[in-house]
Amino acid sequence: MPTICLSCDFEGHHAGDEGGRFAEAGTERLLEILANSDLRITFNVVADLCSTHPLRIERVRDAGHEIGCHGWRHESPRDLTGDQTIEMLQRAIAAFERLKIVPSGFRSPRSSWTTALVQYLPHYSFEWNAERDVSWQPYRICDLMARISVKTDDWDLFDGTSNASTLLDKWRSVVKETRSRGGCVAVGLHEWIVGRDPAFADGLSTLIAELKADSSIRVCGIGEALRELA
Ligand SMILES: [Zn+2]
Repeated sequence: MPTICLSCDFEGHHAGDEGGRFAEAGTERLLEILANSDLRITFNVVADLCSTHPLRIERVRDAGHEIGCHGWRHESPRDLTGDQTIEMLQRAIAAFERLKIVPSGFRSPRSSWTTALVQYLPHYSFEWNAERDVSWQPYRICDLMARISVKTDDWDLFDGTSNASTLLDKWRSVVKETRSRGGCVAVGLHEWIVGRDPAFADGLSTLIAELKADSSIRVCGIGEALRELA
């Protein structure tokens, strides 16, 4: 069935001042929206937040959402050597372990991935990688790992090129194309942008209700979608 995976890059203060300012309220609102619609999605958590804001991560974990990794401190993989990439992954895994979390996949900060990263990810038991990609279907990037394409996200709200209603219409056009292609793709958001833009939060809630009521498309987290495709 055509599938939209909702994928939240969970960044807190690693997204800068506005991230620090709006992350708590955004987490609260997003978890409320998801609970009201009985929907579990994927949260790509910047691992260091497990140390600095453990209660926030435990709330996400305890609500039953899937947790992926969005770097240790949101470093761009393209700025790292091979050894530094391994160190970043080991530090991230150790931070998640403190909260008894095994992240299921990896989404590169700043949408920046490298061949070194893709080479090392399967050794740390990551099952998927979510990035900007032209494909409308998940595909294997190596023996043990699948890639899913992130088709659109909420960044237009931050850089001022869109407002909530225009952005969500753009998301609806991705939903429409996914349905017509029988695709399986991800749509990305940020907890702090949900907190920063109440109109986006309200519109997101409406869109999720639409998707849940539509029997021609499924909405879920990335791992759940990939398991059913396997
Ligand atoms: Zn990010």
